[in-house]
Amino acid sequence: MRLYLSSDMEGVAGVCAWEQVDARTPHPEYAIYRRYYTQEVAAAIAGARAAGAADVLVNDAHGPMRNLLFDELPSDVRVLFGNRKPFSMVQDARGYDGAFFIGYHGAIGDEHAVLCHTYTPSVIHELRINGERCSEATVNAALLSHYGVPLLYITGDRTTVEGVQAQMPWVHGTIVKESIGNFSADSISPRAAQAAIREGAREALARAAQARLFAFEPPIAMEIALAKVEQADYVALIPGFERTGPRSVRFVDDDMPTIFKAFVAVFRLGALA
Ligand SMILES: [Zn+2]
Repeated sequence: MRLYLSSDMEGVAGVCAWEQVDARTPHPEYAIYRRYYTQEVAAAIAGARAAGAADVLVNDAHGPMRNLLFDELPSDVRVLFGNRKPFSMVQDARGYDGAFFIGYHGAIGDEHAVLCHTYTPSVIHELRINGERCSEATVNAALLSHYGVPLLYITGDRTTVEGVQAQMPWVHGTIVKESIGNFSADSISPRAAQAAIREGAREALARAAQARLFAFEPPIAMEIALAKVEQADYVALIPGFERTGPRSVRFVDDDMPTIFKAFVAVFRLGALA
């Protein structure tokens, strides 16, 4: 069994503030939460291996995408590090048998979802595909499914885990915290979270045969509300994008990787506006 593991940091136990997960202007807490993040990923790998996973590819998918403490992971695990991956949080998933999303968070606009956002919060105000509101987990799972890789397991706060299970009922989840607000959470301890994730990962693989793919029916219509008018001015210049309002654009294609790359182009170009 070949496992693809995409890891984010906002959904790690205890995390409730940007400073704790910000590698660029390090606050003393970043070093602590980076370790807890690594330990949750290591716990997921240990659980998956106990249930028979062999190859594991980890995609460090938070911020600059170089947060994991590599020497705290098993020596035979490979890790994708660094940002500017064309498929970002789900780069190079082709050929894997199943996927885990560890430390994930809610979509921008979610109530009671600590540090909720969708990719770049200064650019993306809302993402909808075929009318369905998307979190990072939704759009990432849809790309994985295009390559035949089902999402098996997710960890994070309750809103995130239950939000994904509402869209993909086969996904096993471990809730490590209850979100009180955008910057507050009621969390179990790192060690308790790691134990729960080890067990949850094992259980998720045991149930893998029940997993399904999560696909949007073509034509796939992506509608994006941007944070600012000037961002829509830029994004509307990309061939194929239709301006649907002062701050909104629409893009339609039959191919999910094309939709995904168009989405990445939107938040990268929008950030330059
Ligand atoms: Zn993140």
